[in-house]
Amino acid sequence: MTSPFLHKGHDHSTCIQTALDAADVVCQSHKARLTPIRRRVLELVWQGHSPLGAYELLKTLKTEGHNSAPPTIYRALEFLIQQGLVHRIASLNAYVGCNRPGEHHDGTFLICHVCGTAAEIPDNPMWGPISEMAQAGNFRLSHVNVEAVGECADCQRATGQES
Ligand SMILES: [Zn+2]
Ligand SMILES: [Zn+2]
Ligand SMILES: [Zn+2]
Repeated sequence: MTSPFLHKGHDHSTCIQTALDAADVVCQSHKARLTPIRRRVLELVWQGHSPLGAYELLKTLKTEGHNSAPPTIYRALEFLIQQGLVHRIASLNAYVGCNRPGEHHDGTFLICHVCGTAAEIPDNPMWGPISEMAQAGNFRLSHVNVEAVGECADCQRATGQES
């Protein structure tokens, strides 16, 4: 199994470009409009692999001279989540770009509490066992989000604790 974490030195401009290209395709197929502000918010969310709070995004937009009241940014984020381009990390109240845009899935993340990187795992291993329990309780399951917290390999190396 390959690590869901990218190397610290990877070419991140490729990540951003891939995400923006995918967003165009996804929005076109949904007949949804990726307005300049929505596109810029997506780009800002993708400035790294660490989830960012709405307030941080807002600060950057303001310095760029966008007319960005909080409702504007929350609407843009809501749009991006609906289109499957962004996930909200509930435990951090922050947002991160999805690496499988347009595919319907719940967010499953390994989150490093040292550097803040959130790595998305392709399959949600909790869905099976939780849906079994839900069925037993006649519970109609809609989402299973996993936010597992720990320390990534790079950060363990940096602190010399790698086993
Ligand atoms: Zn990257
Ligand atoms: Zn995703
Ligand atoms: Zn880390």
